[in-house]
Amino acid sequence: MTGEAGVTEQLEPAFRDLYGTGPEGVWAAPGRVNLIGEHTDYNDGFVLPLALPHTARAAVARRDDGVLRLHSADVGGGVTELRLDELEPGGVQGWEAYPAGVVWALLDAGHPVTGLDLHLASTVPTGAGLSSSAALEIVTALAVNDLYDLGLQRWRLARLAQRAENVFVGVPCGIMDQTASACCTEGHALHLDTRDLGQRQVPFDLAAEGLRLLVVDTRVKHQLGDGAYANRRSACEKGAALLDVPALRDIPYEELAGALARLDDPVLRRRVRHVVTENHRVEEVIGRLEAGDPRAIGPLLTAGHVSLRDDFEVSCPELDLVVASAEDAGALGARMTGGGFGGSAVVLVEEDGAEEVGRAVTAAFAARGHRAPRVFTAVPAAGARRLA
Ligand code: ADP
Ligand code: MG
Repeated sequence: MTGEAGVTEQLEPAFRDLYGTGPEGVWAAPGRVNLIGEHTDYNDGFVLPLALPHTARAAVARRDDGVLRLHSADVGGGVTELRLDELEPGGVQGWEAYPAGVVWALLDAGHPVTGLDLHLASTVPTGAGLSSSAALEIVTALAVNDLYDLGLQRWRLARLAQRAENVFVGVPCGIMDQTASACCTEGHALHLDTRDLGQRQVPFDLAAEGLRLLVVDTRVKHQLGDGAYANRRSACEKGAALLDVPALRDIPYEELAGALARLDDPVLRRRVRHVVTENHRVEEVIGRLEAGDPRAIGPLLTAGHVSLRDDFEVSCPELDLVVASAEDAGALGARMTGGGFGGSAVVLVEEDGAEEVGRAVTAAFAARGHRAPRVFTAVPAAGARRLA
């Protein structure tokens, strides 16, 4: 992987080669990993992501002729040229739909964007559940916001980026990824209330405590993911309707047993139980972090995994293997993170046991004949920013 500094240095000359002039600036937006709060975001619930040091970076300049030119150093192919007045949902295929969708969402909201040249390079692994797509959207949104002096707040940029992904690209994602990329701060996890977008920065300085958060990218993506996501979403909506609440977030944890007793379908009961207990776990994790006891979140992470595996049924053998082998090797806790059916897991470990846990997980994968996972340390990093 290219070093972060190297990526920025290469962006300006590459931009010049592609477009003939220099960029007006360079921006960065990170990928994210969700510490806990999974499948809660479309239930108006809580999430607790942190930004990764891995970023999408973009060199950008304005144009005044209604043209959008896009290039990524990370995919084959040349410059893609699009006309702003021809942008429409579903009309752009491939990776270009993400930045084009952001520009479309800004135009559709009435912002005066007249054109753009953009050259992108990213260190966020794609399709690993670490939100390379939101990084790409937010780096575009922030660059346009700055260059066109739009004065939009970060949560607003996140909303527009979500709209780009939902409507223009056609992916029904929640609001977490874009908000994390736009709003996270170094050394913190971001408590986000997905109902009103209320935010709180929660201290998460693991190094100071002698702890580490490992991210294990299983490098698998099982195909049932897309259909299952829609299925889980509609199950949650059905549960909320049957329980006569606007969203499952409105079922208090203390009233869970009573709510479950009102549901006949055992599958629906499990889905509802996951969402309600998961929201509660987010609050418990925050309580322990704010009390200065980060080790105590370990069992909550693992309980979250068990709930996703057994009640929400969105895990897969590789993710379960990460959690089981990490725990066997002495991890404090572990869980799948992201939508499930592949992607990544997070593992909380003592600093001096981190190597061993990483080795144990890798060995467990080899023993089962799985491709070697990618293991790295997640240091809670800054959200989107201008670099130059
Ligand atoms: P995730 O967001 O979890 O990484 P997604 O499927 O949501 O996975 O988004 C991945 C897509 O985002 C890629 O298929 C590609 O279209 C786009 N993308 C991400 N990073 C880049 C990049 N550096 N260059 C071009 N496209 C990218
Ligand atoms: Mg994505």
